[in-house]
Amino acid sequence: MTAVTNQPTRWRLADGRELLFFSLPGHEPAPVPDLRPLPPRGERLSQLRFDRQTQQWVAVAALRQDRTYKPNADQCPLCPGASGDVSEVPAPDYDVVVFENRFPSLSGADGRAFTLPDGDGGGFVDAPGHGRCEVISFSSSHTASFADLALPHARLVVDAWRDRTHDLMGRPGIEQVFCFENRGEEIGVTLTHPHGQIYGYPYLTPRTAHMLAAARAHAERHGSNLFADILADEVADGSRVIARTESFTAFVPFAARWPVEVHLYPNRFVRNLGELTEAELDGFAAVYCDVLRRFDRMYPTPLPYISALHQYRDSESQREGYFHVELMSVRRSATKLKFLAGSESAMDAFISDVTPESVAARLRELA
Ligand SMILES: [Zn+2]
Repeated sequence: MTAVTNQPTRWRLADGRELLFFSLPGHEPAPVPDLRPLPPRGERLSQLRFDRQTQQWVAVAALRQDRTYKPNADQCPLCPGASGDVSEVPAPDYDVVVFENRFPSLSGADGRAFTLPDGDGGGFVDAPGHGRCEVISFSSSHTASFADLALPHARLVVDAWRDRTHDLMGRPGIEQVFCFENRGEEIGVTLTHPHGQIYGYPYLTPRTAHMLAAARAHAERHGSNLFADILADEVADGSRVIARTESFTAFVPFAARWPVEVHLYPNRFVRNLGELTEAELDGFAAVYCDVLRRFDRMYPTPLPYISALHQYRDSESQREGYFHVELMSVRRSATKLKFLAGSESAMDAFISDVTPESVAARLRELA
């Protein structure tokens, strides 16, 4: 992965957490001391427990019960705070910031070695909740949305994702880096200020492990990359393609699970943002915002969505991984949400009420 050239400005919050400023050309961050009387962070904030039935790790992070819940706008922890006594961002203004989550599900990946125990070794197996949870604020404006960011600003977010991916992937005991955004109260967002999160997990997440196993089996059987073949098949079929640029393609997948689901692939194989060229990074920011703007034109109110960046490293188990973004929404009409009920929640067997082709046709029209 190539190193990121634009280095962020580094700052420390009152309890020792790191705060990074990513700035547009000509902007110079002017942070002030964080004067809040924050309690010191404890060690081993959360615990991993192994579920032998599914062979999956579960993070138990009880401290998150007390996290900030729907604060008033004047107490928003992501709005800049020039006085240094209210905000997580003690500065008069900023473009994009990243800081360690005050209520992390995973923590402690600050360079110390960590080896995940064998969860299936017998009996109940637990481990410290090793990893890293960061918050990324996309804008200092409380009412902004990612879709409406000016292109250079959206590209700055992409650069911040790239920087964090490179940093966290290089830390001992981190196996997977996940940049994502949850947008909308309908999916449980507790802060309306436009922001996302970045997780560094000490294991491959279940969906990623499953997809990589499928890709390895596909490579053995067909001699080609699964994700590249899916992209080529979607482009050849065409009925679910929403947008295709020089560098990226957005489509509703053939077997979409969600009422609105779009996958966004670079047109050539890369494993993560660090392997994209400057032109491709610009192209990514442009098509990503294009998809989000289409989402917001679907209904009278902005679409609640989850955006998930699937990134991989060049290692034995992740070699077949093809960087892409999966976006999904639970909204199935102007007034109805899809709830994950018995079949989905209990059996992971999705039943969709709409055809992927009809959703794609709708999103194509909303350019
Ligand atoms: Zn705010």
